[in-house]
Amino acid sequence: MNFYSTKNPGTNYSLKEAVLQGLPDDNGLFMPDHLQVMPDSFYHSIEQLSFIEIANAVGQVILKDSLEPAILNQIVTEVFDFEVPVNLVAKDIYCLELFHGPTLAFKDFGARFMARLLAHLLDDEDGRPCILVATSGDTGSAVAQGFYQVPGIDVVILYPSGKVSEIQEKQLTTIGGNVTALEIDGNFDDCQRLVKSAFLDQDLKSNRRLTSANSINIARLIPQSFYYFQVFARLKHLNKPIICSVPSGNFGNLMGGLLAKRMGLPIHQFIAANNANRVFYDYLQTGEFQAKPSVATISNAMDVGNPSNFERVMDLYNNDWESLAELVKGYTFNDSETRKAISRVYQESGYLMDPHGAVAYLGLGESLKDNPNTVGVFLGTAHPAKFFEVVKPLIPDEVEIPERLESIISRQKQSIKLSSDYRELKQYLLSK
Ligand SMILES: *Cc1c(COP(=O)(O)O)cnc(C)c1O
Repeated sequence: MNFYSTKNPGTNYSLKEAVLQGLPDDNGLFMPDHLQVMPDSFYHSIEQLSFIEIANAVGQVILKDSLEPAILNQIVTEVFDFEVPVNLVAKDIYCLELFHGPTLAFKDFGARFMARLLAHLLDDEDGRPCILVATSGDTGSAVAQGFYQVPGIDVVILYPSGKVSEIQEKQLTTIGGNVTALEIDGNFDDCQRLVKSAFLDQDLKSNRRLTSANSINIARLIPQSFYYFQVFARLKHLNKPIICSVPSGNFGNLMGGLLAKRMGLPIHQFIAANNANRVFYDYLQTGEFQAKPSVATISNAMDVGNPSNFERVMDLYNNDWESLAELVKGYTFNDSETRKAISRVYQESGYLMDPHGAVAYLGLGESLKDNPNTVGVFLGTAHPAKFFEVVKPLIPDEVEIPERLESIISRQKQSIKLSSDYRELKQYLLSK
């Protein structure tokens, strides 16, 4: 498998080039050059496969000729050392729980996979790379955890000051070692803009080897297709068309699903569930894409006004709004609807959703009304305890805090404060 740039479909990059570079020089995004359909035999017995086996089978097809199966197996076995359950929440509604990794959010899938893959691809003449990543909350800690103590790699995280939850901030700023947290006086879009500027700055890049770890890195995207196959494997016995609802911000998660679909995975429909940041929703309604400044919500990892994977989605669908809008339905919900859903579902079933999963749950509910005889799955992208401040007032019981989080909360925050002026970031990176 090789890769091309969305800006220049004739280009050709190896896996190593695409992963190390992060972004092509022409400011496009890397895309896999051909997606092979999984063989029928795979679907026939998929229900017998564990998640690791599924990851190996799908990964081998995607990375054919680029990564030896034995290396892939070693990577996925190390990376996915946690469960990926599909749990019943209500009649015909399941949650694919993607929050059992080390940082309790779905970003662990992409970030850990990328870290291990990058460490494998690097050799001595590559110099000491710096992973530069903007985070709206969960990416940063997942990336940092993935790379923590990986020899020869530095990690620099940019996060918007005051716009991530207390727990998220602790997860970002207490790792230490080869990981530095930059606290940016601005919002997530500012952080993303700063990172983009750095990647386009030839002068900086001639002095410092930079690589990205956002959902824009292709290595983040590939493993995010694996768990859609897990949905099908665990629900195949129901024999009903499956609708998958994805709480979306930068659209890396949904993009993983669309890649899986392109590989033949029988998902009947996708839901792009947005909070008040609804540019993708508006696009699906009108065919017009208009980036907007992001607004703060309780599902803050989805507070994105200019989704970085939009260009990839467009590329995969040849800019054909109609065929995309047929497969993907959009919904948008505000914070008050999201809060109500969290309390209602808890009251009815004892199942506690985090605010992101709750947005996806709401979108699924709307879609199921129009699609009788289907089964719905929403992606639970974060553990509810990560959003303790939001969910606690919504339920009559205590929120259980996993031990992993408790130990982090007691540690001391360590960050470097910078303005949203690019020159400050550049100076910092050059001085390191
Ligand atoms: C990042 C994130 C999302 C949004 O995922 P995208 O791939 O950016 O669309 C949703 N929920 C949580 C908890 C996240 O961390």
